[in-house]
Amino acid sequence: MKELQNYIAGAWQSPVKNQWLDNSEPATGKVYSRLPDSTAEDVQMAVDAAKKAFPIWSAMSVEERSRIMLAIAQEMKLSFESLAEAESKDQGKPIHLSKVMDIPRAIQNIEFFATEILHMASESHGTKGVLNYTVHSPIGIVGCISPWNLPLYLFTWKIAPALATGNCVIAKPSELTPLTATMFAELCMKAGLPPGVLNILHGNGKNVGTAIVEHPDIRAISFTGGTVTGEQIASKAAPMFKKLSLELGGKNPSIIFADCDMQEAVQQAVRSAFTNQGEICLCGSRILIEDSVYEVFCDAFIQKVKQLNIGDPFENGTNVGALVSKSHWEKVLSYIQLAKEEGGTILCGGSPVHPQGRCQDGWFIEPTVIEGLGNDCRTNQEEIFGPVVTLQRFSSEEEAIALANGTKYGLAANVWTQHLAKAHRIAHALDFGIVWINCWLIRDLRTPFGGMKDSGVGREGGFEALRFFTETKNVCVKF
Ligand code: NAD
Repeated sequence: MKELQNYIAGAWQSPVKNQWLDNSEPATGKVYSRLPDSTAEDVQMAVDAAKKAFPIWSAMSVEERSRIMLAIAQEMKLSFESLAEAESKDQGKPIHLSKVMDIPRAIQNIEFFATEILHMASESHGTKGVLNYTVHSPIGIVGCISPWNLPLYLFTWKIAPALATGNCVIAKPSELTPLTATMFAELCMKAGLPPGVLNILHGNGKNVGTAIVEHPDIRAISFTGGTVTGEQIASKAAPMFKKLSLELGGKNPSIIFADCDMQEAVQQAVRSAFTNQGEICLCGSRILIEDSVYEVFCDAFIQKVKQLNIGDPFENGTNVGALVSKSHWEKVLSYIQLAKEEGGTILCGGSPVHPQGRCQDGWFIEPTVIEGLGNDCRTNQEEIFGPVVTLQRFSSEEEAIALANGTKYGLAANVWTQHLAKAHRIAHALDFGIVWINCWLIRDLRTPFGGMKDSGVGREGGFEALRFFTETKNVCVKF
């Protein structure tokens, strides 16, 4: 069985306590590798390595750091196929998606921050006889903790700006999807990243995650994951005055107005609901539809959902793969049951799927569409994070806004209308960090990314991400 290792001080390391976790392939339900169940002792080794590396890495010119990061991106391109295959095997997503979304975006993350750092400038404020200027210096050692839904995509999204700004990083991928982060470590070695600059620790949140958050020498935590985990992390990091970036859960609305381009809205609502099995924090899981077009939308939507192919992520033509773990599969099924108990009607899907052949024990669920539930019920309030979407009606702009804003989350919304002024009006009234008008999941990496309310604290992306990973100092000179 494949045995993954921690990557500390530029070398592979077994966990100090020799404890291991099993790693399964979601599409087959079978264990196929094991990974370190790391502890505080491993974190200490990583911190020691990072401390040694920091004076070298932080003193390098930005051009030199950029060159090394671009060499990593180049290695990723050379390993494109194997990274894509590993991501689909480990996560359960269709191979097509790994190839068009996850791996290209992971490469883009490294390239983007490797080059953005070349353009980072600091401010100066002059007045009579005095010049103030701002210095952005690396924080030192930072922690990056990422989830399982877009494994290498979100892992690199965090570590790239941290490395570009001269920090040394202790990074933890999700214990459910450790494979591509391990392959990434190998590519860093090939590309000549100095030992200790990036250290990758495997294991669960309770042990190694907590140890990273609590280590006094790790001065900033960038976390993406669930809202409850974010709360636990904040409760530990805040009293230690660590810098914190939290990208958390969502319950995102897709808002369909009668005056939209209906064909495009239906097409994109299907994509937004079921891409990556609905396991994207930005997925539209509540579709709000204007009364007058409810039936038209609903019929066209259901027809398209029924055409989605569920099955082996490695088969061409698969649209919906396996859910990441047995416990997540059970959780999503329990929400479908809850929706029925709350009085919802299942318009399509609703059941587990057992494809014939190698995937018969995999964790698959039919794309599921539910209607007839009020906004206050748990199905419409809690993040399900699977191939499950609800439909609700609205009869006015005000009602659409109230329904959309009516959860504790505020990550992303998408709005479908041809009416220009209404589109802007709605965008301004929505309490979401991202509002897509007549589109979904178009990402420009320079834009601020993050959620309002319980969806997070702070913003990633562009110069915001570079600033997060720096300390800001004002120097005031009288002359
Ligand atoms: P999770 O919170 O269970 O785990 C995320 C990471 O945190 C994992 O690496 C996990 O091991 C670690 N962790 C868990 N408990 C910890 C603790 N107490 N201390 C430190 N680390 C800990 O989330 P998940 O199930 O992996 O991911 C799904 C969630 O992530 C969903 O809620 C989804 O909306 C959210 N998400 C948000 C964004 C965003 O950008 N806002 C992006 C992707 C996913």
